[in-house]
Amino acid sequence: MPTYRFCPCCGGALRKKVVEHHPRLICSKCEFIFYQNSKPCVGGIILKGNEILLTQRGIEPYKGYWDVPGGFLELGEHPEDGVKRELHEELGMRCKIKKLFGMFMDTYGPSGDWILNIYYIVEPTTKIKGATDDIVDYGFFPFNKLPRKIAFPAARQVLNLLKRAASD
Ligand SMILES: [Zn+2]
Repeated sequence: MPTYRFCPCCGGALRKKVVEHHPRLICSKCEFIFYQNSKPCVGGIILKGNEILLTQRGIEPYKGYWDVPGGFLELGEHPEDGVKRELHEELGMRCKIKKLFGMFMDTYGPSGDWILNIYYIVEPTTKIKGATDDIVDYGFFPFNKLPRKIAFPAARQVLNLLKRAASD
C-alpha cells in the first residue's frame, strides 16, 4: 500500500491509531480518519462457445499481457454500469449483463493497492469495433489454448474456474 503522510483535508500529519479495532491513519490536527478500502474493479466475461474474449494491455502494469476486459469503477458508479462503460471504452461495443460471476481479491501495480474485482458474464449486443483506450489487441481464445502471459492473478483465477467449468 502507498504510504500516506498528510491529511487530505487540512495537510496535518497523519499518525497511526487503532480506531474501531483496526490500525488506521488519523490526522493529528483535525482528527480526520483516513479509512482505506480495497478499490473496486469490474471485469466482463464474454464467452463464445468454448472460447473467451481477452484483451491485450497497452499500459503498465502487465503491459503486453492478456486480461479479461474491464477496469476501475468511478465514484458512485454501479458495477453493472461500470463494466458496460469499460467494454464500450476498450472495445467500442455495447453489452448486457447476464449474471454476476464472482468477486476476487488482487493487488494493483508497484504500490500494491488492494483491489476488489467484480466479474460479470456479459453478452454483446453490438459488434466489437476494435481495441482502443488502454488496450492494443483482442481475441477469442479456446480454454485449452489460452495465452501464456495472463495479467493479474485474479484474471488467472477466473480463467481457471471457467476452464474447469467448460471441461465438465
Ligand atoms: Zn486534518
